[in-house]
Amino acid sequence: MDVKDIIKIVNNVVNSPDAEALKASILDLDKEIHNLKTQVYDLQTKNFYLERENEALRKKVDINIQWENTKALYEPFQTPGGALIYRSIKDAPVRLLACPNCMEERKIIFIQPDPDFLDRYYCPGCQRWFMK
Ligand SMILES: [Zn+2]
Repeated sequence: MDVKDIIKIVNNVVNSPDAEALKASILDLDKEIHNLKTQVYDLQTKNFYLERENEALRKKVDINIQWENTKALYEPFQTPGGALIYRSIKDAPVRLLACPNCMEERKIIFIQPDPDFLDRYYCPGCQRWFMK
């Protein structure tokens, strides 16, 4: 049903030659109004779910942007012992070393000197170790 069909039905109502034809045309018009109301309801329902989906996607995008901004503060770094880790890029008295495994899980975990092995770092997050 489109606007042309509705106009046609309204014209039938206006130009009905007698009471029976007028009644039939009004019933057609009432049926089309009901159909249009149903379409409006369906569209409102679809719009509601699309707005919810849009909101959820925006939140995901925001989380991704925040993560990318955080991750941008680190750069890949190879230790003298050959381990590939991340290191903070900011100028600071101490550059922070971060675990690459935890970074893959979107977590920044600072690796620490291994108290049992002087030539290793360990990650308190995933318990892996890296050669210094
Ligand atoms: Zn880790």
